[in-house]
Amino acid sequence: MKVCETENCESDISHYGRNKKTCEDCTKEKNFIESRERYRAQKLAQIARVRVIRSVVAEYFGISEEIICSRKKGRIISRPRQLAQYISREEGIKIAYIAIACNKDRSTVQEGLKSIKKTLEEDTHLAMDHKIITDQLEGIKCTNKI
Ligand SMILES: [Zn+2]
Repeated sequence: MKVCETENCESDISHYGRNKKTCEDCTKEKNFIESRERYRAQKLAQIARVRVIRSVVAEYFGISEEIICSRKKGRIISRPRQLAQYISREEGIKIAYIAIACNKDRSTVQEGLKSIKKTLEEDTHLAMDHKIITDQLEGIKCTNKI
């Protein structure tokens, strides 16, 4: 008899193929844990990337990262904030993670994204800022693969 390799599992796996080392339940469990870990790693990497983007944007506009994350309104702060979120979104980062990184709720981020998209279409200066920042970010790829 061949028994599942998982600790504390005594399931008979003789009827499975020769390459099978764990029973069906243990294989499922293992796959579940692995996918959960992958998901978690991706989440952390994406949140870290938002922070990188945010710091580059803050530096470009000459404002501090604390201010960019704050609840302060006014164009001087909200534009860079929204732009950082917009660039994050362009890189494929989930809105939920942008919201976590920026300490905002999802609907606020969504509203900001809509608003900045419109502004970018109308404001050539901001569009230029966007281009310069994204070029700069090209060179700063996250060490954690997203
Ligand atoms: Zn098992």
